[in-house]
Amino acid sequence: MSNPKLTELRTQIDELNLQILNLINKRGQLVQEVGKLKEVQGTNRFDPVRERAMLDLIQENNNGPFETSTLQHIFKEIFKANLELQHDDHRKALLVSRKKKAENTIVDIKGEKIGNGSQHFIIGPCSVESYEQVAEVAAAAKKQGVKLLRGGAYKPRTSPYDFQGLGLEGLKILKKVADQYDMAVISEIVNPADIETALDYIDVIQIGARNMQNFELLKAAGSVNKPVLLKRGLAATIDEFINAAEYIISRGNDQIILCERGIRTYERATRNTLDISAVPILKKETHLPVFVDVTHSTGRRDLLLPTAKAALAIGADGVMAEVHPDPAVALSDSAQQMNIPQFDEFISQLKPLCNLNT
Ligand code: PEP
Ligand code: MN
Repeated sequence: MSNPKLTELRTQIDELNLQILNLINKRGQLVQEVGKLKEVQGTNRFDPVRERAMLDLIQENNNGPFETSTLQHIFKEIFKANLELQHDDHRKALLVSRKKKAENTIVDIKGEKIGNGSQHFIIGPCSVESYEQVAEVAAAAKKQGVKLLRGGAYKPRTSPYDFQGLGLEGLKILKKVADQYDMAVISEIVNPADIETALDYIDVIQIGARNMQNFELLKAAGSVNKPVLLKRGLAATIDEFINAAEYIISRGNDQIILCERGIRTYERATRNTLDISAVPILKKETHLPVFVDVTHSTGRRDLLLPTAKAALAIGADGVMAEVHPDPAVALSDSAQQMNIPQFDEFISQLKPLCNLNT
């Protein structure tokens, strides 16, 4: 038998819970309005002075039975939830967000439709070294039905004494080969001033991991009518990655492919740690296509095939991998590029697993 007094008290508690619920949601609505005003004014959402004043008010008015520190802790959680609510609203408003645009963005690269459910490969050497070197890889890729050819002409190298790339000469080689084999070319640009010239030679501007937060470069790439492949920064969170893409789209260019290429962690068995779960997260949070670069994420030739399988299985729109006619003498990334027979094996193992045409 339940005690009538207990039932009565519990009923009162339930009522109070509903009142608190109602008040917390009312508070949330007001905070959302504050968030909108702050966005218009460009002021910071988090205001520690204001938060301190609110905590002081609680202290001054606390008549117990709770300790002030306990109440302040509870209120701080409410403040935190409200701040997150403002961030959610902001995220909803991002132009790259799925909440802003539900359908997939399809990036059209010379007729190759990236983002429509079909899966693609971007193949080519780490660096453009010569016409013959690029042509040999292009011929092998083309034979396997690959249409997207990569090659670095401007190489962002850790050491200034390492090969820096052939620059414009490299772009000219890429264009010549691409025209010859009817392929599309993807190449990294590191300097905003080079974008204009590059437009005549390449089909996709790559923004490399080291430049993911080079905001002037992002703005410049966003201001032209050319698809962009944006790589995730070495130590960038997904949120930072999404915001980097926002820089590009906010300038008017929505032809963006995101590329997960591994992040820096304490693990030394691989060059970087492939954050495979970033793929479905990015697909869910944004409407942009997502690629996985298996070469730079692993830095290991023996892991290219298994990680590419994982990328395709998890729903990536494509895989990027580096191929060189003679990796042992490559001027960059010689440890992980595939030679042509290895590439043939790689692609023939993957083809049955992926969705080639939609
Ligand atoms: C590249 O793809 O050539 C490259 C340098 O990769 P990342 O920017 O991801 O290191
Ligand atoms: Mn490389």
